Amino acid sequence: MKRAIEKNLISINFYNPRDFTTNKHNKVDDYQAGGGAGLLLNAQPLLDTLKKIKNKNKNIYFIFPAPAGKTFIQADAKRLANKEHIVFVNGRYEGIDERVVETYADEVFSIGDYILTGGELASCVMSDAISRNIDGVLGNKESLSEESFENMLIEAPSFTKPAIYENRSIPSEFLKGNHAKIINLKNEMAKLKTKYFRPDLYLHAKCKKEK
Ligand code: SAM
Repeated sequence: MKRAIEKNLISINFYNPRDFTTNKHNKVDDYQAGGGAGLLLNAQPLLDTLKKIKNKNKNIYFIFPAPAGKTFIQADAKRLANKEHIVFVNGRYEGIDERVVETYADEVFSIGDYILTGGELASCVMSDAISRNIDGVLGNKESLSEESFENMLIEAPSFTKPAIYENRSIPSEFLKGNHAKIINLKNEMAKLKTKYFRPDLYLHAKCKKEK
């Protein structure tokens, strides 16, 4: 991402809701209405921050990282690479006053079924996955089409040289130079690897193919 920024392929800005507070101590958090453990990011500073961003550019796409969201997947990374401006709205503490989410969220994504301390890491994960799908960000464009989750399969196992290391050898077909056969073998290995590591994905791919 550093190189992508240097090449002007992407740019990243930050907004601090604290700069938009109207209270004396620039507080951005508060106790939950109705009780409950922990603090929430309250509505006013965030709503004002997002309003200002939206007024500057109507095409902004707001993504809220949250455990409640749908799981972020590779297809989302590819689709969102076509958006011109994305703003990630990161929660902290127990999260964000729901009215902010209701007013501004274009999409809500979780990066997995576990709880992070804040949305920043989730936003970094999604930004990285999205950015590498933008033209020019990756040195080798082909690596995108050969990666896991393309055709709903996990990528086939890969090896480097030497062909034998500590008595473990790589598939001999890889050394014979017949590219059609190598592609065939890789495809079969990708299916087996998916079946073993991600039976859910394998079943999904199989059902889709049979339809
Ligand atoms: N109280 C919330 C709940 O139970 O759903 C958890 C809040 S969490 C401690 C604080 C913030 O971290 C969230 O508002 C969200 O921005 C981010 N976050 C935590 N886990 C996440 C996940 N799995 N995926 C995406 N964002 C997450």
